[in-house]
Amino acid sequence: MARALIVVDVQNDFCEGGALGVTGGNDVARDVAAKIGEGGYDLVVTTQDWHVDPGTHWSATPDYLDTWPVHCEAGTPGAELHPAVAAALAATDMPVVGVRKGEYEAAYSGFEGVDAAGRTLAEVLAAAGVEEVDVVGIATDHCVRATALDAHATGLATTVLVDLTAGVAPGTTKVALDLLREKEVRLV
Ligand SMILES: [Zn+2]
Repeated sequence: MARALIVVDVQNDFCEGGALGVTGGNDVARDVAAKIGEGGYDLVVTTQDWHVDPGTHWSATPDYLDTWPVHCEAGTPGAELHPAVAAALAATDMPVVGVRKGEYEAAYSGFEGVDAAGRTLAEVLAAAGVEEVDVVGIATDHCVRATALDAHATGLATTVLVDLTAGVAPGTTKVALDLLREKEVRLV
């Protein structure tokens, strides 16, 4: 059974100092980089929020639930993967596929994204024979949550490595973890 590591949105804008910096983001990036360095997966998939014109997803008066400050604008440094993760990916022997999402609309789940060849995340995983995924990244209460739920719904054995995630806010993070637990996504 092939296993994949799904690294959700560990991008500069979601780490401290970024346009939508999440507390703990830089620590997650460092720890995810170390995890990639350990190897052991048949595939690593990275997802990136990659916005051109995502409509009301961006707002001058964001509520931090459905609307957000401008972030992860396609082609900008803020949309790039955190340098620690990028370095780990460059050094790994494991196959790596990048998926981008949200060009013209909000897209929280990595399963809404496509790779450079236009394959959906589900197609990328199926092509590699992946039946089991570990999900890590940012933010626990939004994109990690949505990606893990979709992975589970796709029939993949899904585990969230909670120590390798960071949430926007404690309240919504708790709600997200409770929901994942309720859906029988494994939390470690
Ligand atoms: Zn976004």
